[in-house]
Amino acid sequence: MLTGGTVAASFGDMIQRSYLDYNATAPLRAEVRAAMVDAMALHGNPSSVHAEGRAARAAIETARTKVANLVGTRSENVIFTSGGTEANALALAAQAGEAWHCYRSAIEHPSVLSGGRFYRETTTEIPVTAHGVVDLAYLARELDKHRAGGWRPCVSLMAANNETGAIQPVAEAASIVHGARGLMHTDAVQAAGRVPIDIGALGADMLSLSAHKIGGPKGVGALVLAEGVSVEPLIKGGGQERRKRAGTENVPGIVGFGVAAELALKDLANAEAIRTLRAELERRVLASAPDAVVLSASVPRLPNTSCIAVPGAKAETLVIGLDLAGVAVSSGSACSSGKVEASHVLNAMGVAPELAQSAIRVSLGFGTTNTDIESFLLAFGELVKRLKQSPKAAA
Ligand code: PLP
Repeated sequence: MLTGGTVAASFGDMIQRSYLDYNATAPLRAEVRAAMVDAMALHGNPSSVHAEGRAARAAIETARTKVANLVGTRSENVIFTSGGTEANALALAAQAGEAWHCYRSAIEHPSVLSGGRFYRETTTEIPVTAHGVVDLAYLARELDKHRAGGWRPCVSLMAANNETGAIQPVAEAASIVHGARGLMHTDAVQAAGRVPIDIGALGADMLSLSAHKIGGPKGVGALVLAEGVSVEPLIKGGGQERRKRAGTENVPGIVGFGVAAELALKDLANAEAIRTLRAELERRVLASAPDAVVLSASVPRLPNTSCIAVPGAKAETLVIGLDLAGVAVSSGSACSSGKVEASHVLNAMGVAPELAQSAIRVSLGFGTTNTDIESFLLAFGELVKRLKQSPKAAA
């Protein structure tokens, strides 16, 4: 058990942990694991016509229906991939060779920021407000400006941000984009299973999903297409996934994704309970550290995500201190090449660098209990007290 319970540490001893990092990855759900273990016995190749092959194919198609249900579409529109990253790349590779221009918000996941097959010269960044919501007027102006250029826009706007949880106006963006004869892609990797998602209501032409954010396995995801939309394959070879993604399917992974999607859809009924836990967490964080700032607090957010900046503290110090106390959270900054860089999301929101470097992300999920919240608050309170007594300890 990894969620808010006792986990076996690598040395075999048992320690009490509180896992509050669902946006990094959610724990594998027990039902998912059991279904995956069963699926490992399906040794047939899903493309084979014999009984073994047909059994594997049936398991994939059952999972496809479950994933389609999560986003309100038909199973025919689901293309399984190796994860959210590949789904985003597939969406942004779709128009390769044609006269397209890519527009994406400044707070997208790095897999969208990398641009798929779009070059820097054919990419325009759309800014966000101080609250972390895309500037739609800016998008509309850019699309108008470029209409004369004769190319078609491909716009990528995430359904909700992974660091702040800020929900983006995808449906409004889609109507602007369609007015400009463009294609709308949304990265719904964090939003799916946390808030209701319907590809039709969002007006998205392409929508990315990832299994491991909703209690499924890592290394599997999907690109979901709207009716009548097609994409060029990124990986070519065999005819799998209706010729949109070659390679023998990851049967246990896809089966696990299906079960996770089915449970995530049911769990939407518990979203308010998670929102209540987060509200209590934020209320008491602000009571123990009155100068702390909850980012994107004034705009609609995912119910599970809280991005908290603690002036004077270093996020890494908080993350390590909390970890030592048995609580897992993330820092809002990315650590790359040994150098801690400020989060591009908080930077795009205009958050001052010192404040951005003090931001931690707490993300809750299906296994989060009151005890997890109490453990976090106890450890956080102690850390902040220490910080006030000895500001040097914060660095
Ligand atoms: N998009 C968003 C918003 C994410 O948060 C992530 C994962 O962190 C991804 C895409 C990538 O998904 P995957 O880890 O399945 O490649």
